[in-house]
Amino acid sequence: MNYCGVWTIAEANREKIKEVSYELLSRGRKLANKLGVELASVLIGNSINNNAAQELIYRGADEVYVVSDPKLENFIVENYTNVLKNLISEYKPEIIIAAATTRGRTLMPYLAIKVNAGLTADCTRLDIEEKTGNLLQTRPAIGGNILATIKTPKHRPQMATVRPKSMKPLRKDENRKGEIVNIPLKPEWIDGRVKNLGYEKNGQEEVNIQDADIVVSGGRGLKKRENFNLIRELAQRLGGVVGASREAVDRGWISYPHQIGLSGKTVTPKLYIAVGISGAIQHLSGMKTADYIIAINNDPEAPIFKVVDFGIVGDLFEFLPLLNEQLSKGAKGDEI
Ligand code: FAD
Repeated sequence: MNYCGVWTIAEANREKIKEVSYELLSRGRKLANKLGVELASVLIGNSINNNAAQELIYRGADEVYVVSDPKLENFIVENYTNVLKNLISEYKPEIIIAAATTRGRTLMPYLAIKVNAGLTADCTRLDIEEKTGNLLQTRPAIGGNILATIKTPKHRPQMATVRPKSMKPLRKDENRKGEIVNIPLKPEWIDGRVKNLGYEKNGQEEVNIQDADIVVSGGRGLKKRENFNLIRELAQRLGGVVGASREAVDRGWISYPHQIGLSGKTVTPKLYIAVGISGAIQHLSGMKTADYIIAINNDPEAPIFKVVDFGIVGDLFEFLPLLNEQLSKGAKGDEI
C-alpha cells in the first residue's frame, strides 16, 4: 500500500488552536517516530495565520497543511470532509487521528465512509505493531469491561479518535523546524446544499468540565433533581464545577454535558468529589486519573471507595449541608 505518514486533525477557534490539538500531536509523534515517518497536522478554518500553524510545529508537527477560507468559517461536516478527502487522495497518509470531541466525533465517521476506511472511536491507547507496522487501536468495549485492540490490516488510512485529556501535550519547542503548506480551497469542495443559518446557544447550563481543577459530582444517591442544589452549592463554594453520573443525567436531574465516564467526558482535575455515586467501571473510566479523589457514600462496600484517597461513609443529606455550612463560614480544610 502506497500510504505513508501520520496525520492529526487540529481544531481551532479562528486563529486560536485548541489544546486538544497538541495532545493529538503528542500521540502522533510517538507513532511517527516508531514508524520512522513524518508527522503532519491538518488545520481547516477561516483567518488561520501562520503563527497558529507554527505553533503546531513547535508542539511536534513536521508539516502543517492549512486550508483557510471564509467558506470554512463554520464547521460543516460535508465541506470539511470534502477538503480532507481530497488531501488524503493527494498525500496518502497511513494513519489519521482526531480528537473525540463533538467535532471529531462528527467528522471522522463521515470521512471514514467517504475514503472507504474503518474507524476506531474513543481510543485510550494507540501503538504500532512491530512486525507489520499496523496501528494498534485500543478502546474499552462491552460496557467498559474489557479493552479491545483493533487493527486495520487491509485498508488505508487507518483512522482513530482519542479522548481529550487522555494524553499530555509535548512541551513547546521553539527550535523545532517544519513546513507550512497552504492549500487553496477549491470551489467544488463546498457542498452548496448545506448552509449555516446561525447558532443558537444551548439553553442548558454551560460547563467546561474538562479544564476545571475541582469537580464535584452527584449520582443517583441524590434521589431527586432539586437535591442537586447541594452539589451546586458545594462546587460553587470550592470554586469548582458540577459533574454527574449517567444515572443522574438519564433521570433528567442535570444535562448531558456534565456527564462523566465512558459515554460522557473524561476529567483529570486536581480534586474530584463523588457524592452518592457507586463507582461503576464506566464512571471510573472518566475520573480515576484525578489527582485526589474524595467520595461520600452510605455503603461502605461501594466500589468507588477502591479508588479514593479519602472516603466518607455516611448519609450525604446529613454531611453535605454541614459541609456547605462550614464552608460558608470560611472554614478551611483542617477545621472541617
Ligand atoms: P448507583 O449505581 O445507583 O449508585 C448510587 C450510590 O448512591 C450507591 O452507591 C448508594 O450507596 C449511594 N447512596 C444512596 N443514598 C445515599 C445517601 N443518602 N448518602 C450517600 N450515598 C447514598 N455511568 C456513568 O456515570 N458515566 C458514564 O459515562 C457511563 N457510561 C456507560 C456506558 C455503558 C455502555 C454502560 C453499560 C453503562 C454506563 N454507565 C455510565 C452506567 C454505569 O454502569 C452505572 O449505572 C452508573 O454510573 C451508576 O450511577 P450512580 O453511581 O449514580 O448510581
